[in-house]
Amino acid sequence: MSIITGFEHFIRQDEPLAPHTWLRTGGAAEYFAEPTNADELVALVRRCREQDVDVRVLGGGSNLLIRDEGVRGVVIQLGAAAFGEISVKGQSIAAGAGAKLGHLISASVREGLAGLEMLVGIPGTLGGALHGNAGNHGSDIGQFTQRATVLARDGQVHERRRDEMAFGYRQSSLDELVILSAEFRCESEDPVQITKRMQKQWIIKKSHQPLAHENAACAFKNPGEMSAASLIEQAALGDARVGGVALSARHANFIVTDRGATSADVLKLIEMVREQVLERTGVELKPAMDVW
Ligand SMILES: Cc1cc2nc3c(=O)[nH]c(=O)nc-3n(C[C@H](O)[C@H](O)[C@H](O)COP(=O)(O)OP(=O)(O)OC[C@H]3O[C@@H](n4cnc5c(N)ncnc54)[C@H](O)[C@@H]3O)c2cc1C
Repeated sequence: MSIITGFEHFIRQDEPLAPHTWLRTGGAAEYFAEPTNADELVALVRRCREQDVDVRVLGGGSNLLIRDEGVRGVVIQLGAAAFGEISVKGQSIAAGAGAKLGHLISASVREGLAGLEMLVGIPGTLGGALHGNAGNHGSDIGQFTQRATVLARDGQVHERRRDEMAFGYRQSSLDELVILSAEFRCESEDPVQITKRMQKQWIIKKSHQPLAHENAACAFKNPGEMSAASLIEQAALGDARVGGVALSARHANFIVTDRGATSADVLKLIEMVREQVLERTGVELKPAMDVW
């Protein structure tokens, strides 16, 4: 039996992945699956396990670099409506991992639930945010997370309670194959006050990142209390470029790509900046993106 037998309605072959990422570079996925519900997802993960096929999960592609040679095996995206539902109960808000983080934030603000608004402007899905504990200026998604449902590589679904999860700077213990959904505990507050805080945060965020039409991604994690952008500027690397890939003129810790850019150039730029920052400042920067 082929990997796609019976799954033809939600699996495509040789799907270019560049359009699914914010950098718009990289090759194709051998198989690209968009299951329409949890049963199809579980059946596919079990099939991949039986046939020893690699599986990866793609969120919004805002923290991901796909190598130019592409990806063997199956790439799953939780784009179907079944994975993006959002619901509110008292001071808790729950969502599927395929929901856009921005939609979760809008829903929480509308319902007068405070906390998540500080994450405004972070692109991508809830799954990606939980995987890397996305955050902004002292707030991160982990601090609100009460419960998560995950699907392991063996096709088993598990619940993770608050005390079974750990969140650190841009990392979480949720490293199972698929994060399916999560629940967040917020404080009740007047939606007008939450909206004001969110708008303020949004203005700050927008002024510190590449323009909306640019293909961009974060280059490095901030090392400890230091800012990767100031280390890059200190090392006089603000105008670093390799081929069609450069550091953003608006914020040195963002990579921006032109038409024709390749992932190999992105990797070369990251390595060049990492080496020179280390040489000139003594600080070793760690790349922010996951590389497939
Ligand atoms: C303009 C811009 C601004 C940004 N600002 C911030 C910021 O302020 N703070 C911040 O923390 N980040 C920021 N980022 C980085 C990025 O937006 C976050 O890391 C985001 O949470 C990634 O989510 P995603 O859905 O795009 O994940 P992807 O890039 O698709 O994937 C990232 C990783 O998460 C995994 N993943 C995704 N979904 C799931 C799932 N359901 N189950 C299991 N694993 C999954 C993938 O396998 C991959 O390893 C920014 C990026 C850009 C381009």
